[in-house]
Amino acid sequence: MKEAFDRAYAAVTALVADVPELAGFGVWPAAAVPRDVPANPVPAADLVHVLEPATSAVTHTAYQAIRDIAPFANWQHTYTEAEVGADFLARYGWFELVGPFGHFHATDTRAYIAFWGRGLVYPWHVHEAEEIYFVLSGEAQFETEGAETEVLGPGGTRFHRSWQPHALTTRDDLLTLVLWRGAGLDGEARMGTA
Ligand code: ZN
Repeated sequence: MKEAFDRAYAAVTALVADVPELAGFGVWPAAAVPRDVPANPVPAADLVHVLEPATSAVTHTAYQAIRDIAPFANWQHTYTEAEVGADFLARYGWFELVGPFGHFHATDTRAYIAFWGRGLVYPWHVHEAEEIYFVLSGEAQFETEGAETEVLGPGGTRFHRSWQPHALTTRDDLLTLVLWRGAGLDGEARMGTA
C-alpha cells in the first residue's frame, strides 16, 4: 500500500507543479516524509474508489492514484449529523494527504482530498487558514462572500481568504484537492459566516 500512496503523492506533486494557481499558492513540499496513518474508510471512501474515469487529461493521473488509495486513506468528517444530516455524512469525507497529521508530513501546509456526492449543499462556513480548491472531477457551484458565484469543473480553482465565508453546491460527484496555508493551519472549518 505504501507504493500506492507514494504514487498518489508523486501524481499530486506533478499536478501542483503544472497548475499555475496551485504552484503559485507556494506551499507544496517537494519531499514530504511518509507517515503511518491508519485507514478510516467512511462510506464516501467506497464512492471515491469507484468514481467514473476522469474526463480531464490535466487531472487524470492524480485522480486515478487517489481512487486507488481511497479505501486505505484516513478519512474524516468535520461535521456531525446534527449539523449536516445523514445523507451528507454518507456521501462526504476528506483526508489529509499532506500536513501535520496526514499521510505525508509537512508543517507549512495541509493538503486535503475532499469529496461530496452529487446534489449536496455544503452550507456557508469559515476558517482562518487561506485556501485554494482545485476540482479533480465533477462539477459544483462555488459561492464566496465578496466574489462572483462560479460553476467549476475539472481543472477549476477557487481561492478563499482568511475567514472569507464560502459555500458550495455539487452538480455532480465532486472530488477536489484543497490546499491550506498561513495562520490557523491547525484549526478547523466551522459552519456560519463569522
Ligand atoms: Zn474552505
